[in-house]
Amino acid sequence: MPVLGRDVRVPLVTGGEVSYAALDYAASAPALQRVWDEVAAYAPYYGSVHRGAGHLSQLSTDLFEQSRATVARFLGCRDGAEGDGDDVVFTRSTTDSLNLLASALPEGTRVFVFETEHHASLLPWRASPTTFLDAPHSPGQAVATLEAALRAAPEGPKLVCVTGASNVTGEIWPVRQLAGAAHRHGARIVLDAAQLAPHHPVHIGELGVDWVAFSGHKLYAPFGAGVLAGRADWLRAAEPYLAGGGASRTVLRGADGGLDVEWRTGPARHEAGSPNVIGAYALAAACRALSEAGFEAIGGREAELTGRLLDGLARIPEVTVLSLFGAEATRVGVLSFVVDGWNSSHLATALSAEYGIGVRDGLFCAHPLVRKLLGAQRAEPGGCGAPEAPGEQSLNAVRVSFGAGTPDEHVERFLRAVGELVRYGARWRYRTEDGRCVPDSERDDDNDRAALAR
Ligand code: PLP
Repeated sequence: MPVLGRDVRVPLVTGGEVSYAALDYAASAPALQRVWDEVAAYAPYYGSVHRGAGHLSQLSTDLFEQSRATVARFLGCRDGAEGDGDDVVFTRSTTDSLNLLASALPEGTRVFVFETEHHASLLPWRASPTTFLDAPHSPGQAVATLEAALRAAPEGPKLVCVTGASNVTGEIWPVRQLAGAAHRHGARIVLDAAQLAPHHPVHIGELGVDWVAFSGHKLYAPFGAGVLAGRADWLRAAEPYLAGGGASRTVLRGADGGLDVEWRTGPARHEAGSPNVIGAYALAAACRALSEAGFEAIGGREAELTGRLLDGLARIPEVTVLSLFGAEATRVGVLSFVVDGWNSSHLATALSAEYGIGVRDGLFCAHPLVRKLLGAQRAEPGGCGAPEAPGEQSLNAVRVSFGAGTPDEHVERFLRAVGELVRYGARWRYRTEDGRCVPDSERDDDNDRAALAR
């Protein structure tokens, strides 16, 4: 599946330019060419949704609702005319989706969440009593930990929030078993599928989850839409997430001089304001493209590249790949590592500046997990300084991630680059600016000599 950007060339500090190797799909994936083409074909027909009598408004409204139906099929949503099935709500992102669900929890709901989650899954529940579960060291331990916590919990509504694939380690979580445990103890479960959905089928019924949240920009559709899909009952009973037009059916001045508002039920209840029809349309196009390509083929190609990356990194003794579940873990195309003697920000900057490779460094919005994996309680500030002493572990990590359209050459270049940097050091000089590592822009004698050294 071709993606945009494959011909983009970027300059190197050492001179010349190379094609850009995008290896940061876990942050935001490039757009699928097909998504881009479908959006471009629709763009001239763009019009307002649910609020216009004109032909293009009608067309856009139809396409918006068809996009909802496409997403519902992609996720295997359950029908239910009376609110006992699933609703698909278009949001801005996974973060937005989980905040929406947090706002819809019945009074007194207790939330259960592993400390290993992305901040988008960890933080929205602040208004609810929350049980934070310790990081498990195997999928089986994850299920046992959840069971024990649910067994000990007081009566009342409960929600488990779990990530399908870690944005740090890429490891896949035992979602079906966790859903089973949740339901055995009367809890509901929401799946953060931000990292799983681009790589794996996410079928609500087969996984047995109650809700799924994901983002278009990680699913090759970077047009600002996300999804919360799942059981309609709590969503329809909740106050609208946003108050405004579209969510309200009628608004009258009440006898007391205030407002009497009748809110809509269904997805519109939580979609106040003008919907992002281009985002929804793009997201649906991505769902169609991924379904047609088939997750077996997508997964097979990714497993091959992941294997190559893990083998290549294993040949560099200074590299430690981060893992919670150990060697047996199954992963999506995401992995993080640290290099003895290297500050991760320095390494990531040198990969970009000297090899044209885009990766991410830091704590990846999963601070408790990365700190636990690194055995560190505090993060180091960014910057270029090598860790305190050679051989000492960096206090943040480098993440490499890929997916549709990633050519072999990007993975090979990445492995060669890490090998060369670790073996020979950077060719350029770097300095710290606003806490970030940046190449020293002046072409002074030192930099010229270093650039020529190999
Ligand atoms: N959950 C996971 C596992 C993620 O990796 C991310 C983003 O990196 C999010 C949630 C948040 O996604 P968004 O930034 O699109 O809201």
